[in-house]
Amino acid sequence: MSFDYDLFVIGGGSGGVRAARISASEYGAKVALAEEYRMGGTCVIRGCVPKKLMVFASGFPGAVADAQAYGWDATIGAFDWQAFRGRLDAELTRLEGIYRAGLDRAGVTVFDSRATLADAHTVQLADGRTVTARHILIATGGTPVVPKKWRDMGAMSSNEVFLMDRMPKSILIVGGGYIASEFACIFNGLGVKTTQFYRGAQILRGFDEEARGHISDEMCANGVDLRLGTDILEMERRDDGTTWVKSTTGHDGTYDAVMFATGRKPNSDGLGLQALGLDLAQGGAIPVDKFSQTAVPSIYAVGDVTDRANLTPVAIREGHAFADTVFGAKPTYFDHGLIPTAVFTQPEFGTVGLSEEDARDKGPVNVYAAAFRPMHSLFAGRQARALMKLIVCARSDKVLGCHIVADHSGEMIQLAGVAIAMGATKADFDRTLAVHPTMAEELVTMRTVTRSWGD
Ligand code: FAD
Ligand code: NDP
Repeated sequence: MSFDYDLFVIGGGSGGVRAARISASEYGAKVALAEEYRMGGTCVIRGCVPKKLMVFASGFPGAVADAQAYGWDATIGAFDWQAFRGRLDAELTRLEGIYRAGLDRAGVTVFDSRATLADAHTVQLADGRTVTARHILIATGGTPVVPKKWRDMGAMSSNEVFLMDRMPKSILIVGGGYIASEFACIFNGLGVKTTQFYRGAQILRGFDEEARGHISDEMCANGVDLRLGTDILEMERRDDGTTWVKSTTGHDGTYDAVMFATGRKPNSDGLGLQALGLDLAQGGAIPVDKFSQTAVPSIYAVGDVTDRANLTPVAIREGHAFADTVFGAKPTYFDHGLIPTAVFTQPEFGTVGLSEEDARDKGPVNVYAAAFRPMHSLFAGRQARALMKLIVCARSDKVLGCHIVADHSGEMIQLAGVAIAMGATKADFDRTLAVHPTMAEELVTMRTVTRSWGD
C-alpha cells in the first residue's frame, strides 16, 4: 500500500518538531506536520521561554536593591509591561521562525491547520482534505485546566498571562504546583501584590519535603502572601473589573486579576482516537508503551499528551527516540527514571533523583543537608537562606538525590545530574575539589551526616 507520507506528525511543539526533523533529515523519511496555532508549541509560545523571560524581568528590583547595598547609587523606575510585551512578542516570533526554518530545511511539509485522525493511516485536516501516512505521531501537548465556573468569571490561566493588556496591581494565584509557584514569585518580583492559595498543606507536592518548606518560607519572606490549606469558596466579578474572592478559610479580598494554575490536561479531545478503538487513560492521556507506540501499531504519541513527565526535554527525547526507533532502525526509548528539573521560583529549586521521603521508603539512607546564608545576599543585608541536600544510600554510598534551593540552582542541578546519572557515590563527591568561593562547593564539603534512616 502506498501512502502520501512516511510520517504525519500532529502538533508542532517540542516533541513533534524534533521527531519530524530527525525522521526527515537524518533518516530520509517523507514527513508532514500539522500545527493549528503557532510553531514551537507550549514551550516556545506560552511556556518555558516567555515564563523564563518574565523570571528575568522580575529579578531586577531585587538586583537594584542589592546594588545599592554594594555601594551603587542605583534606583529602579516603573516596569513598563507594554514595552516588555512588545519585545517578548518579537522574540517569540523570531523563535517561531527558527522552528519553521528548521522544518523547512529538513524537507518537512507543514500544514498550518488542525488535524485529526480519520483512520489508522489517514489524517483529516480542518479544511476537509485528507492525507495518508504509514506512521502517525500524535504530539498535541496539553492545555490548562481551569474550573469552568471560575473561568466564566474571568480567571486567567498561564495561556492568558502572557497576553495581558496591563500589569495588575494585585493578583490571586490559585494552585501550588510549578506554574502557580513560579508565577507567584514572578508577579511578586514585578511589584504586584501577590496572594497564592494552595489547597494542601505545602506547595510543590511530590518534591523533597524539606526543600518545599524552605522554598515556601523564602517566598513568604520575599513578600508572597501564601495561604496554605486554602481554596476559593466564592468569586464575583465587579463592575470596575476587579474580582472579589472569599476563601474556604474565611479570608476575603479583592484582586485586580485572578490566575488559576491548577494543572493541565492532555490535548486528546476530538482527535478521533476512540473511533479507532484507542481507549484513553484517566484524565485523557494517550496510553503508549516504552517506545511511545499506542495499541494501534501505526500510531505513536509523545510529550505531554501521554502525561508521562510533562517537561520540554522529556518531550524532545521521546520525539527523538521515536525517530531513531521507527526510521533509524535503532530501537530506542527514553528512560523516565532520573529527571533533573528546576522550578523557577525565587529562590530557584533544582532537583534530581529521590526525595528524602521516597529514598527512606526504599532502604537505609544518610542525609547530608546544609542551610546557610549565601555570601552575595548576606553582604547585601538580606536574610535569604540557601539549602543544599544530598540523599545517600547507606549500603552502596551512591548519591540517590540532590536538592538545591538557591539562586541559579537550575544551572547547578544540570551538572549534579550528570554525576548522579553516572552513579556517583558520596565518596566521589567528597574527593572532588571545591570551587571557592561558590555556593555549590557545599555539595562537596558536607562531611557530617545530618540524619540517618533505617538499619
Ligand atoms: P506542546 O509543546 O504543547 O505542543 C503541542 C502542539 O500541538 C501545540 O503547538 C498545539 O497548538 C498543537 N496542537 C494540538 N492539537 C492539535 C491538532 N489537533 N492539530 C494540530 N496541532 C495541534 N517545561 C520545562 O521543561 N521547563 C520549563 O521551564 C517549563 N515551563 C513551563 C511553563 C508553563 C507556563 C507551561 C504551561 C509549561 C512549561 N513547561 C516547562 C512544560 C513544557 O512546555 C511542555 O512539557 C512541553 O512544551 C511539551 O511539549 P509537547 O511537544 O508535548 O507539546
Ligand atoms: P501541577 O500539576 O504541577 O500543579 C497543579 C496544582 O494545582 C497542584 O498544586 C494541585 O494541587 C492544584 N490543583 C489542582 N486542581 C485544583 C483545584 N480544582 N482547585 C485548587 N487547586 C487545584 O500543574 P501546573 O499547572 O503547575 O504545571 C503543569 C506541568 O507543567 C507541571 O507539572 C510540569 O510538568 C510542567 N511545568 C514545568 C515547569 C518547569 O520545568 N519549571 C514550569 C511550569 C510547568 P494538589 O497538589 O493538591 O493536587
